[in-house]
Amino acid sequence: NLSEKLERSFKLLKGEGKITEINVAETLKEVRKALLDADVNYKIAKNFTDEVKKLALGANVLNAVKPGQMMIKIVHDELAKLMGGTMTDIDLKGTPSVILVAGLQGSGKTTFSGKLANHLKSKKGRQPLLVACDVYRPAAVEQLKVLGASIGVPVFFEEGSTDPIAIAKAAVAHAKSKGYNVVIVDTAGRLAVDEAMMKEVTKIKDAIKPQEILFVVDSMTGQDAVNTAKEFNDRLDFSGVVLTKLDGDTRGGAALSIRSIVDKPIKFVSAGEKMESLDVFHPERMADRILGMGDIVSLVERAQEQFDTEEARKLHKKIAKNQFNFNDFLSQISQIKKMGNLKDLAGMIPGMNKMLKNVDIDDDAFKSIEAIIYSMTPAERENPELLNGSRRKRIASGSGTTIPEVNKLLKQFEETRKMMKMMTGGGKNIARMMGNM
Ligand code: GDP
Ligand code: MG
Repeated sequence: NLSEKLERSFKLLKGEGKITEINVAETLKEVRKALLDADVNYKIAKNFTDEVKKLALGANVLNAVKPGQMMIKIVHDELAKLMGGTMTDIDLKGTPSVILVAGLQGSGKTTFSGKLANHLKSKKGRQPLLVACDVYRPAAVEQLKVLGASIGVPVFFEEGSTDPIAIAKAAVAHAKSKGYNVVIVDTAGRLAVDEAMMKEVTKIKDAIKPQEILFVVDSMTGQDAVNTAKEFNDRLDFSGVVLTKLDGDTRGGAALSIRSIVDKPIKFVSAGEKMESLDVFHPERMADRILGMGDIVSLVERAQEQFDTEEARKLHKKIAKNQFNFNDFLSQISQIKKMGNLKDLAGMIPGMNKMLKNVDIDDDAFKSIEAIIYSMTPAERENPELLNGSRRKRIASGSGTTIPEVNKLLKQFEETRKMMKMMTGGGKNIARMMGNM
């Protein structure tokens, strides 16, 4: 999947503190490919990667994460932003609030109408009324009746009527008189956009003045979904999009394309034929899906939380003045431990894998390092220059390690300190240090 590809393209850059022009170009090629695979329109994919490039080149990579992972996060956040950033709720103003459902035949309008009624009834405590306005296929009315019965929501229909506009008007009047507070109008679709369908649905719109016009689109139709969305929007000026059939192989690229082209929020996603399988649309979750990633984003966020603290700023100063000492080292270790399971995190930290190669990674991984440091006196920790031969011998026996082990740690510590000082502006935590070991 994409996140693996991204990591691979960054393999050579472990320990690099900044995202550079070269690795950005490489990665963005992968991103663009993945977007195209996910059915994102070519132009949109290109604009998107141009934007990410700008952001990535300016970004300071947290030392706790690999540039590749940072890159994934930038891509992820930008994807979510493109899809609207935050969730947009359905508008239920009006008594009743009237919702018109439109889209091509087979896109999932009738199924969605049922799901929405179920959602509003069970999650929002509403009393919905479903309205069958597809008068062309007798089976369509029957289908809605069956769905309505299964979720306990009444269905308004007019036997033998061929006038969907009249049905819609009568339904709203019926809802008013009977106290239904949401009216969901399921309409007829055609296999392709045509004038008759557009005229009809526009007339229904004018007759009942809905608060919400939801455009339903099959996410598996890929690029076509975008063209259809544009045509419906030009005629209907809909208020939101519903993506259906996300339970298939589709990666949801349509969500990105549609949002970029019509600039209307996606409000629901539907995945499955069960009445319960409807979700309010969350841009971040769709970004996860498009990227096909696990929880790298949350790992990066955890790392950010832990390192982006006052502590880190203080440390930074110390490093600049070459005052970084073993107490700081200890506190960095405990910060890393706080971040959670070391097994998760070891892979995120440049150099950690190498260092812990032969260790069964758990919280014991730092034990001997900690033991050595704890065997130092406070003065020695503050001032590692004090550590002469006899002190080192004492520390080795006190910590249950050997003199070569103590020497090795001290040598690494010294080197790291030098390097940290050299890169004031960058090095501020143990991850950097580990990366150098
Ligand atoms: P309409 O013509 O727009 O009213 O579409 P329908 O609601 O009748 O749905 C067309 C077909 O797609 C039916 O067989 C539905 O069961 C199926 N369908 C609708 N929504 C979904 C979905 O989210 N996932 C899957 N797998 N099938 C769906
Ligand atoms: Mg239908």
